[in-house]
Amino acid sequence: MSADVRAGIAVIGGGSAGAVVAARLAEAGADVLLVEAGPDYGPNGTPGWPADLVDATTLALSHDWGYASPDGRWAWERARVIGGCSSHNGAIAAVGHRSDYDRWGLPGWTGDDVEPVYREVVERMRVRVYGEDEVVPFHRHCLTAAEALGWRMASDLCDLDANDSFGLESVNVVGRTRWNAAFAYLDPVRALPNLAILDRTLVDRIAEGTSGVAIHAVRDGRPLLVHADRVVLAAGVYGTPLILQRSGVGDPERLAALGVAPVLDLPGVGANLHDHPIVLVDRAIGDALQADIDAAKARGFLPEEQTLGKAVSTQSPDGLFDLHVFPVLAADQTNELHGRVGIVVSCVTPESRGRIDIASTDPEAHPVIDHDYLGDAAGHDLAVLRDGIAKANALFDHPAVAEHVGAAVTDLSTDAGIRANVAHYYHPVGTAKMGAGPDAVCDATGRVHGLERVQVADASLFPRIMRANTNLPAVMAGEVVARHVPR
Ligand SMILES: Cc1cc2nc3c(=O)[nH]c(=O)nc-3n(C[C@H](O)[C@H](O)[C@H](O)COP(=O)(O)OP(=O)(O)OC[C@H]3O[C@@H](n4cnc5c(N)ncnc54)[C@H](O)[C@@H]3O)c2cc1C
Repeated sequence: MSADVRAGIAVIGGGSAGAVVAARLAEAGADVLLVEAGPDYGPNGTPGWPADLVDATTLALSHDWGYASPDGRWAWERARVIGGCSSHNGAIAAVGHRSDYDRWGLPGWTGDDVEPVYREVVERMRVRVYGEDEVVPFHRHCLTAAEALGWRMASDLCDLDANDSFGLESVNVVGRTRWNAAFAYLDPVRALPNLAILDRTLVDRIAEGTSGVAIHAVRDGRPLLVHADRVVLAAGVYGTPLILQRSGVGDPERLAALGVAPVLDLPGVGANLHDHPIVLVDRAIGDALQADIDAAKARGFLPEEQTLGKAVSTQSPDGLFDLHVFPVLAADQTNELHGRVGIVVSCVTPESRGRIDIASTDPEAHPVIDHDYLGDAAGHDLAVLRDGIAKANALFDHPAVAEHVGAAVTDLSTDAGIRANVAHYYHPVGTAKMGAGPDAVCDATGRVHGLERVQVADASLFPRIMRANTNLPAVMAGEVVARHVPR
């Protein structure tokens, strides 16, 4: 095949997991090409890095793919830049509970298997717990209230055996810098001659042949053909299934309807999309708390999140936590208070499932995304949120917090009110899930069923979401799959 670029292993997507895969394979001596749709600003400290991507105190949305629901109600943020979502996220570091992994029933992914991997990930990502001296007043008041209400006080988001607790969050923040996966994994290997990074290059589709994989991409508006012996898809929970579908891998009827010639019948591609649903329980704030917050901001460091509670709802089948309950200083992504503070409540064991599909064969076309939040027939997710709202209100109503806040702004007292305000935690997973059933897309090494030379390594692999923010899990997935890539 006459190709513009040749590589041993092409890793597609340089996000949380892709950065890890590329780095680990390059370290091991493989000939690696990392293909990323967004820009690569170079190693940490390079002057070109946009300030918002580096500054960990706010979510940075300057490099977003721009996916949103047609009615504008939900934005589905994903970063288009080296480091992927780890370059614009909240940098909260968590791993979930051991049972989250055990229940997958997949060799190499049990709690015992991932525990040592997480130890390495936590070190690489430079995870630390916020210091007592950094805690700003609203979070301090919430800590006081939580302790008085009987929560076990602990900062144990990175402990696979910890159950419900309330404490300071662990974060991958160094100074004020969001320590993204590119800084953590790519920077140490950037000088290796066997690693090349092709940024601003959008992968359209792939085609596996007997001698390798053809990767059809677009760079500077022109087609680019890459030939690789193997491919690792790490384009994320939206990007990976879209590339597979454009390549003819998915539900044949859906693909044919869009003019894509079906290559492989894998109906699970794009299905099983799920996230942690959230609602923001809010209260108006008065001048005194606003002044405290302004003073903290003036001192230079005011992250919107610092504390988090894990709680057990009445729906929990196993006595393990199924709720995150965490105070926030921002009422929306502008990181502005707009006269209120919030306590976000999330169901971290959701049953609702949606899907993602290409809308056309144009790789720049936005996909059709349907998360179906709170759509599970038994009403599980809604019931868990209801319990969480009660826990958030208890925190707000405790005198330690109550004396600083006013009345609720948003009415969440009815199911209709919850449904009208449900949002997401930025943690979509599951669209190329591992397993053996008819809806599984990959085996436990990440290899796509029916293909020999194509593996997936990102959050789309997770059959069921963990009770955790998903950045460290995506990094962990990169570490695990990298060990299974033949070199
Ligand atoms: C706003 C926000 C806040 C979040 N906050 C937190 C948090 O505080 N803590 C936490 O743990 N998690 C958080 N998350 C979630 C977490 O960051 C993600 O789950 C994780 O980064 C996903 O990693 P990934 O490797 O699966 O995908 P990504 O990191 O999204 O990487 C995919 C990469 O592939 C590239 N790509 C996609 N399609 C193509 C293509 N066709 N061609 C070439 N390249 C392509 C993308 O540009 C991207 O760089 C947050 C997410 C968001 C969006």
